[in-house]
Amino acid sequence: MKWHTLAVHAGTEPDPLTGAVMTPVYFTSTYAQEAPGQHKGYEYSRTHNPTRTALEMAFAQLEGAKYGLAFASGLAATDAILRLLSPGDHVLVSRDLYGGTYRIMRKVFEPWGLQFDFVDTTNPAQVEAAFRPNTRMLWVETPSNPLLHISPIAALADIAHARGAKLVVDNTFATPYLQNPLEMEADIVVHSATKYLGGHSDVVMGAVMLNDQEAYERLRFLQNAVGGVPGPMDCFLVLRGIKTLPLRMQKHSENAQKIAEFLATHPKVSRAYYPGLLTHPHYLLAKQQMRLPGGMVSFEVKVSDTEALRPMWEKLEIFTLAESLGGVESLINHPAVMTHASIPEEERLALGITPGLLRLSVGIEDAEDLIQDLTRALQAL
Ligand SMILES: *Cc1c(COP(=O)(O)O)cnc(C)c1O
Repeated sequence: MKWHTLAVHAGTEPDPLTGAVMTPVYFTSTYAQEAPGQHKGYEYSRTHNPTRTALEMAFAQLEGAKYGLAFASGLAATDAILRLLSPGDHVLVSRDLYGGTYRIMRKVFEPWGLQFDFVDTTNPAQVEAAFRPNTRMLWVETPSNPLLHISPIAALADIAHARGAKLVVDNTFATPYLQNPLEMEADIVVHSATKYLGGHSDVVMGAVMLNDQEAYERLRFLQNAVGGVPGPMDCFLVLRGIKTLPLRMQKHSENAQKIAEFLATHPKVSRAYYPGLLTHPHYLLAKQQMRLPGGMVSFEVKVSDTEALRPMWEKLEIFTLAESLGGVESLINHPAVMTHASIPEEERLALGITPGLLRLSVGIEDAEDLIQDLTRALQAL
C-alpha cells in the first residue's frame, strides 16, 4: 500500500456492528460480561478501548511495526519506555533534545537510579566512546529539537546492537511519513502524537511502535499498570488527523524550505537551521534517511537579550507565539524561555540555544503570507 492510501485507511474499517465508516468513539469505561471472565476482549477501558485499539493498529501500520501503543502524552510514552530499564542501568541520550525529555530523565529517572549521559549523536565515534558496560539504551532525537541536528540512525543502531543496547528514536519531528527508524534497525520509535500525527493542535497524546514482542508485552503491561492512557475522543481525533498526514507533511516541508531559504540570506538573521538547506552540516544524511526535510525551521537573530525581541512579537500577525508544533497553523517559539527553560542556562548556551534563537513550526498556510509576516517582524528589530 502506498502512503496516501495507508494514511486514509490505517487502523480503520467500517464498524462491524453498524457499518459506520468512521471509527465510533466508545465512551465507556466498562463492558458487559456474559459470565465472570467471559467477554468480547474488552473488560475495562484503562486496559483496552475499541477506539484506542483502532488507533494503536494505525500507529503500528504507519511505522511498518508489528505493535503500536497509545499513551496519554509523549512523555507518558517516554516514561513507559524508560521503565523497561532497572536502577543502575545507563542511557546515552542526544544532547540536543526536547526539554521535557531532558527533565523526565534528570528529575524523575536519575533520582530513581538510572544514569544518563548526553552526547552528540550526530557523531557516531563520540557515541561509541561514551558507551559503558552498563549502557542499555541509546536515545536519539532526529531531527532534534530545537537545532534540527540529524543523527545517522542505521549507524547508531549498529553501534547500540554491538553492545547489547536498544536504540530508541524520537520520531516526532519527522513523522512516520518522512522517516521510518524501524526500517533502519532502531528497536523502539516514540512520538509525541500531540504534534504532526494529531496535526491540529487540539489533543495531547503519545505513541510507541516496535517489533520486539518481549518489550511490547512489558510496555502493554506498564500501560495498564501505570495507567497513562488516552481517552476515546482523543484517539478519534488522532485517527482523523492521520488521514491527512502525508498531504500536510508535503505542504509543511514545501513552506519550510521556502522560509528557510528566505531566512538564510536575511541580513538580520545570523544563522538558519534547516535540514533542507545545502549549508546544513547533515544535508546529505537528511536526504538519505528522510523523505522530505520537514516543517521545522530554527534561526538566530542578532540580539543581546530576549527583551530586544519584543518588537517582533508585536508585529507578527500570522505566526502565533506559542509552545508546541506540528499543527496546521504556523507557530513561533523562543526555546530559551519557553520549551527549553528546564535546561540550565550554561548547558543551553553551550548547545547553541541562545537568547536570539527562534524556532518556527511552519504551518500549511500560503508561504508568501508567512514570508511577508516574517519580513515585517524582522524589519521591526
Ligand atoms: C512535544 C514533544 C515531546 C513530548 O510530548 P508531549 O505529548 O508533549 O508529552 C517529546 N519529544 C518531542 C520531540 C516533542 O516535540
